[in-house]
Amino acid sequence: MDYTFLHSTILTWFDNNQKVYPWRNEAPDSYHVLLSEYMLQQTQASRIALKFPEFLNTFPTIEKLSNATNAQMIIAWQGMGYNNRAIRLRDCAKQIVDTFNGNIPSNYSDLLSLPGIGTYTASAILSFAFKHNISVIDINMYRIYSRVFGLDIYDTKTKSEVKTIAEHIYPRDFSSSWHQALMDIGSSFCKAQNPKCILCPIPDCLYRNNPSLYHIKPTKSKKTEASFRNIPNRLWRGKTIEFLRNDHQLGHHLNDVLHSILKQNPNEIDITWFKESIIPSLIKDHLIEYNVGNNHLSLKG
Ligand code: SF4
Repeated sequence: MDYTFLHSTILTWFDNNQKVYPWRNEAPDSYHVLLSEYMLQQTQASRIALKFPEFLNTFPTIEKLSNATNAQMIIAWQGMGYNNRAIRLRDCAKQIVDTFNGNIPSNYSDLLSLPGIGTYTASAILSFAFKHNISVIDINMYRIYSRVFGLDIYDTKTKSEVKTIAEHIYPRDFSSSWHQALMDIGSSFCKAQNPKCILCPIPDCLYRNNPSLYHIKPTKSKKTEASFRNIPNRLWRGKTIEFLRNDHQLGHHLNDVLHSILKQNPNEIDITWFKESIIPSLIKDHLIEYNVGNNHLSLKG
């Protein structure tokens, strides 16, 4: 493969076609990059792009973010799913303020010491915010590299092969643009199902040349989740938090919460399930408080 041609094709394509996001610009603020990478874990970029300016308005600095209460975080996180990530982000900000004087670390090991930051997020922050020469691999880039080089995505050996390719292939001094280009290619063309190879700017790809060799396995059926009334408890947790976001300071009687989320008066079975499954898991994640005496729930202050 001609890497010089590959680099110039992809970087030129990115210059002309990159997606516009509020956290992307020539000289990105490391705080904005940290926020966006935290938010993008498990939530679509288009949804984050809508929420990002409002969140930044509420928490314009890492110091402000570090002082947020759990309830403030949960309210500001509305629409971004997985509320415990909001709490972890605040904890991360607090540790940056307490340990690193409010400066987001620019080295790998310090970043990895922060709550909620794993290898991908640490590499992404170093590449996008600090312009380090570093390879970044998320699930979309993994899929692209596997297909371009004709590797079996489901073979356990592929992980280390992709890591080696990723470290070798990115254009030095252009890590940020290269990896963000691959992100855009992954979300626009190289999707898990039905990749749009005909539109993809990657010039040389073994999958495109012979897709039948690299058939796409159907996605594995997910493990059965704990559920109630055929709805996963994960969604009931979300509905509960959504309800408590309203008038969060007052607290709400358990029966009112249940009535709202079930859309009918709760019976004994509903109340037992709610007390034994939903309340303990939300308390464990520091998202709510429950007053056993008066059966009132509220967001954790
Ligand atoms: S040509 Fe197709 S398989 Fe190859 S990277 Fe592009 S979208 Fe993915």
